[in-house]
Amino acid sequence: MALTAEAYRKFKKEMIEFIWEELDPYEDEIESTDKVPLDKVLPKLRRMHCFGMLVPEGYGGVGLSASQYVPILAEFSKIHGGIRVIVHVHNTTAKAVAQLASEPQKQELLPRIATGEYSVAFGLTEPDAGTGRDLQSRAVRDGDEFILNGRKHLITNSEFASHFMTFCYTDPSRGAHGISALLVDRETPGFTIRAMPPLMGCRGGEHGYLTFKDCRVPAKNIMGTEGEGLVQMTVALEVSRLFIAATSLGTAERALDLSLAFSKKRVTFGKPIAERQAVQTYLAEMATDVYALRSMVHDAARKADRGERIPAEASMCKLFGLEAVGRVTDRALLVHGGVGYTRKYPIERLYRDARLNWLEEGPPTIQQLVIARNFLDGYRWDDDHGG
Ligand SMILES: Cc1cc2nc3c(=O)[nH]c(=O)nc-3n(C[C@H](O)[C@H](O)[C@H](O)COP(=O)(O)OP(=O)(O)OC[C@H]3O[C@@H](n4cnc5c(N)ncnc54)[C@H](O)[C@@H]3O)c2cc1C
Repeated sequence: MALTAEAYRKFKKEMIEFIWEELDPYEDEIESTDKVPLDKVLPKLRRMHCFGMLVPEGYGGVGLSASQYVPILAEFSKIHGGIRVIVHVHNTTAKAVAQLASEPQKQELLPRIATGEYSVAFGLTEPDAGTGRDLQSRAVRDGDEFILNGRKHLITNSEFASHFMTFCYTDPSRGAHGISALLVDRETPGFTIRAMPPLMGCRGGEHGYLTFKDCRVPAKNIMGTEGEGLVQMTVALEVSRLFIAATSLGTAERALDLSLAFSKKRVTFGKPIAERQAVQTYLAEMATDVYALRSMVHDAARKADRGERIPAEASMCKLFGLEAVGRVTDRALLVHGGVGYTRKYPIERLYRDARLNWLEEGPPTIQQLVIARNFLDGYRWDDDHGG
């Protein structure tokens, strides 16, 4: 699944112009109101096919490959993070639907997801449990329906998503093989959504508390195989960790660009600070982190496009990415000095937005666990592909 090189060049150029000309100007409004103006932003995102980027062309999507999507998502990560999370969560969940759904489900859902008529969100994290086998949400079969009870929190796009991919036990006796993914319609009786307190960064969107109280969900809404939802999703979402690394990359690139420009303009003791070796050291370290992250992300995306599993690579990219963007935004703040801590420059926002990368798709300890387990289980580089 990929656009031709020529079609992609055109799509990417138009998308980059769109991001900077039509979305970046909302930064001040989002920061001052703590609201992404959805009435203006969502129609623009729909017009530019932003919700169908990872949906195959055969189902009405743009059909980007992972390698083609990474630079677009990185560009979104240079502007306000509140917009980036809308795009990321929808596309990642859309990709999961495309991978897990049966053919009839794909026919019904994907064309609507691709246009943004349906907005899909991802409901895994719970307030009363750890992520994975610890989940407390339960769905019990009753004829052609499941009766779902449980709670989720921190669920992105909860103010407007039409469907929530909700992870719950359908057979607790089977452990990890008893967890299913149910697609729950927002309008389901017994399903309530409440906004959580505002965020440190990536502001402007609602990340909701979801409560399911005796919700009747059609059994045909199971995504993938009953009981194998978590296992299948772990595979489907490897690439999503890579996409968080792409987010770190975009934010780090912007922080570097702003720091280069600022260092040439800011004069102390009669010279631009760019001429001071101490500042050059910061810039050199930032550029090195960006280059390393770019290389890792593009390598892993190529592997994913060849149909290879990338559990270790995706977690290494995600882990290195959050550390790299952490270092780069730290140094960007130092290059800017005191004014960088004010809202005069976007550095303070990029700094806050970047800290979400620690958490999305699992904290560092989870990534370390996945990486170590893969290597202990015999994972090795594939030299045939230059890995
Ligand atoms: C803005 C935002 C948007 C989000 N959007 C979504 C979304 O759309 N859908 C969704 O499902 N989730 C979403 N999340 C949740 C996010 O994925 C989780 O917050 C993240 O994975 C961490 O899980 P947790 O909050 O339960 O932390 P916890 O699991 O409580 O972890 C707290 C700390 O304890 C450590 N820890 C926990 N358990 C262990 C263990 N067994 N061994 C070692 N260390 C451990 C962790 O590493 C961490 O340092 C979002 C979060 C935020 C902040």
